[in-house]
Amino acid sequence: MQTYRLSLFVLIITVLTFSFNLPVYGQSASNPFVIMIDPGHGGRDTGTPGTGRYKATEKDIALDVSLALGKMINEKLSNVKVVYTRDKDVFPTLNGRAIAANKKDVDLFISIHCNAQPGKKGTAYGSETFVLGTTKNKQNLEVAKRENSVMALEENTEVYKEFNSSSPEFLLGLELAQEAYLDHSIKLARFIEDEFQITAKRRSRGVKQNIFYVLAYTYMPSVLVELGFLTHKKEEDFLNSKHGKNLMTKSLFIAVEKYLKYLNINAKETVAFVEDKEVEQVSNHIEFKVQIAASSKAIETKAYNFKGLNKISRIKEGSLYKYFYGSTTNYEVTKQLEEEARNKGYGSSFVVAFKDGKKIPLIEALKTMAN
Ligand SMILES: [Zn+2]
Repeated sequence: MQTYRLSLFVLIITVLTFSFNLPVYGQSASNPFVIMIDPGHGGRDTGTPGTGRYKATEKDIALDVSLALGKMINEKLSNVKVVYTRDKDVFPTLNGRAIAANKKDVDLFISIHCNAQPGKKGTAYGSETFVLGTTKNKQNLEVAKRENSVMALEENTEVYKEFNSSSPEFLLGLELAQEAYLDHSIKLARFIEDEFQITAKRRSRGVKQNIFYVLAYTYMPSVLVELGFLTHKKEEDFLNSKHGKNLMTKSLFIAVEKYLKYLNINAKETVAFVEDKEVEQVSNHIEFKVQIAASSKAIETKAYNFKGLNKISRIKEGSLYKYFYGSTTNYEVTKQLEEEARNKGYGSSFVVAFKDGKKIPLIEALKTMAN
């Protein structure tokens, strides 16, 4: 019996170790960090025409900068793969862009646009980078209205029915779904706006929050960049020039590079943080978690590394890192957690118990609770 148990244990560990192909940043060419670049608009959706002095509109500048950024990343960064929502003058729907990003296991989504000031003043200028969030700021709302308005040009408007940014229920659901990615999105947005100032010497209007469709429905860190105002003559000249596009591309590239560096550092810091917190949380009571994976690699416990599951924790046992989904003191709830994990593709998930932060046999935990 003892030998049987031991070999079963070894078998389970072996299967778990080799059957989970969890993403790790830049670890290997076969498992690259995937960046999706989304040049705004395209085809019959021209985006803002700007002052009207140039033939090129927002869609053209967005495409030029996007392709140049992708090229630079491919040339200079190893183990990073670039994919585009469009690489020519075509019109992907907003919904199509989000679906493509979610399908391709994208780690980072960058949407590139140019801004426009409503009316004829043409005084507003500067770059701004948006992450998902609610806002009451009128100017921000104008930007979102303009960038989302393309929905009306699309043939199948049915898919946008639930997208109602004035409904509190809708916004709450959105915030919960995106919570896990927000701090990373803000980090990248900050790097981008900093580089626009440092490298391109532009005026930054800052990092802002707003409800953009492409940010709301992409389940990974995502930002929407407004390079500058095409309704501002000087800025329009700059963004239409080769020199201007080069500077904006270079800024975006440096920001992406900084973000990737930050992720590695952050992954290291997360180890101590997660473990400390775990010990504190589970002291003096029985706690259940769902083990979803084991790996020899220390993977950052972010939702986008675990097929969108958040509340992931990690412990090290021997040479293996164990990854757990959820945490509850109620054994009944574990069934629900287990089902959620299985639905996400972690078919061999199972419930484990902890007492005072230490793993104990499940049966012992249940007995303790019954007493
Ligand atoms: Zn746009």
